[in-house]
Amino acid sequence: MKRLLQGYARFRRDVFPQRKDQFHLLADSQQPDVLFITCADSRVVPDLILQTEPGDMFLCRTVGNIVPPQGQMPGGVSATVEYAVEVLHVRHIVVCGHSDCGAIKAVLPPDPSDTRDHRNLHRLPLTAKWLGYLEPAWKFLPPGVSTGDPRTLHVALIRANVIAQLENLKTHPEVARALAHHSLQVHGWYYDILTGAIDAYDQQQRRFLSLEDWAEKNAEGSF
Ligand SMILES: [Zn+2]
Repeated sequence: MKRLLQGYARFRRDVFPQRKDQFHLLADSQQPDVLFITCADSRVVPDLILQTEPGDMFLCRTVGNIVPPQGQMPGGVSATVEYAVEVLHVRHIVVCGHSDCGAIKAVLPPDPSDTRDHRNLHRLPLTAKWLGYLEPAWKFLPPGVSTGDPRTLHVALIRANVIAQLENLKTHPEVARALAHHSLQVHGWYYDILTGAIDAYDQQQRRFLSLEDWAEKNAEGSF
């Protein structure tokens, strides 16, 4: 908590005065272009990774960057998506998973070599229920992935889950409508904490490319 209080003092003293005009412009309205849905993990800091500023992105953070399908769990995520699309008219939704995601690890078979494995799902009924939404991810594992190596499987399932949650996202009627009208694009990303690199899911090639390659390939599009 001390760290937070010190940070706040620094923000009020050094940061806010320099950016006062920017904050004043944002005081009464926001027009973010992007809804960014990512994991609650403390190591994923979107504004740092993407160098975004206040007002740039509407954020939604959930354990495992899960987006329950429409109708199954009306709650915070559904309301956030609905508001972002219907009221803010965001043009892009990014679902971003990340390396070493504990949510995904919790649904993998135990790794005997991992001493940090602290899963106790029987004591966490709400988490266990929530992680049930990871189940469809197994369907999106690339063919031929080695399920024998826990680390390989972990990364593959994190990526597969990004695809699964994109599919869940598309079941939300406002998202489906905006996609049909070409007023919205959805994107699946994987962020590697170790290297800082992002890979993007190419929905035509059905594989992940570096975000740089993906951007080059889509340069002709409306991104
Ligand atoms: Zn995570």
